[in-house]
Amino acid sequence: MKISFPHMGYSYIAFKWLVENSGHECIVPPEPSKRTLDLGVRYAPEFACIPFKILLGTYLEVAEMGAEVILTSGGMGPCRAGYYWVMHKYLLEEIKKDLKIVAFEPPLCNLRDFIQKLHFVRAGGGISVKEFTRVLKITWEKIKAIDDIEMLSHRIRPYEVKRGDTTRSLWQALDMLDQANSIAEIEDARNEGLKILQNVNMDKERKPLKIGIIGEIYVVLEPAANHYIQIMLGEMGVETDRSIYLSAYTRNNTIVNLEEDIHQIARPYLNEAPIGGHGVNSIGETVLYARHGFDGVVQLAPFACIPEIVAKSIIPSISRDLDIPVLTLFIDEQTGKAGVQTRLEAFVDLLQKKRDTRIGAERLVV
Ligand code: SF4
Repeated sequence: MKISFPHMGYSYIAFKWLVENSGHECIVPPEPSKRTLDLGVRYAPEFACIPFKILLGTYLEVAEMGAEVILTSGGMGPCRAGYYWVMHKYLLEEIKKDLKIVAFEPPLCNLRDFIQKLHFVRAGGGISVKEFTRVLKITWEKIKAIDDIEMLSHRIRPYEVKRGDTTRSLWQALDMLDQANSIAEIEDARNEGLKILQNVNMDKERKPLKIGIIGEIYVVLEPAANHYIQIMLGEMGVETDRSIYLSAYTRNNTIVNLEEDIHQIARPYLNEAPIGGHGVNSIGETVLYARHGFDGVVQLAPFACIPEIVAKSIIPSISRDLDIPVLTLFIDEQTGKAGVQTRLEAFVDLLQKKRDTRIGAERLVV
């Protein structure tokens, strides 16, 4: 079968490996572009959120490239993310695109359905359970290694002497991970990639501002959807930390919750039933970033995303209580890179002035 999947950051490297080693042909989804969004906007309902439109555009692009099946995820909770794949399926049928969608719901939600879908992928490619288990393990290791490499790049970029060096090293490291075919090779590629990043020429005298990035999962994870905000901030000399990485998200939502209980942290501000998406996370993570001494937080919210709108209405109280500025960027098809850059520059200026004032006041006390 010719299989594709949604493009989400650099995870396509791991999913490409999974598909190819499960006995299928992989149609690698192109990075979302203006054309992807235009296609999605043309066929999606006007008020659908932007991840829905980008995914629809991606499915149309991979259908043109010959894909027969899309592997994607479902979702639980009150937000419409859980219905995405059903809506996409109807729309693709309406447009007369012959594309089958296989959506994996969280296994804790319906284990039997999850196993049946894994069987569909495995048996369609004609490989044994043992071999498929090995392929899944390697895919998981790739996802974790990709996250480790990307995380380090965001810590190094604000120190780079020559603009673009970190991004070039990041791609070099990702290419090596792309070539790795076993757990041992992934480990070697990961270590080598981390070394390449650590060797970027850095000015260690700098004291970068620290900004936490929170918000809805798709626009946080897909740089093309958020106008490469982490690279943009890194090149402005700001260190960023992202609340969501695919490896951590998968661990928290499918296996066991290994991290701090974000719902518990958010409770003083939102003592309600789940509000869907990452709304509760955005609240809890703002608290955590404040507690960990970050200078500010940027919330990425698709336009008309209810969970993030609820979070946005609560975040000013956290900002006040914990003295942490938060900038919300709503993203839709009208959002342009220049507009995002201007708002970020103004926010970074504000944070720098705030930090200088605090340092000045501390010196006076001493
Ligand atoms: S979390 Fe927001 S953007 Fe994502 S599907 Fe739900 S409403 Fe849409």
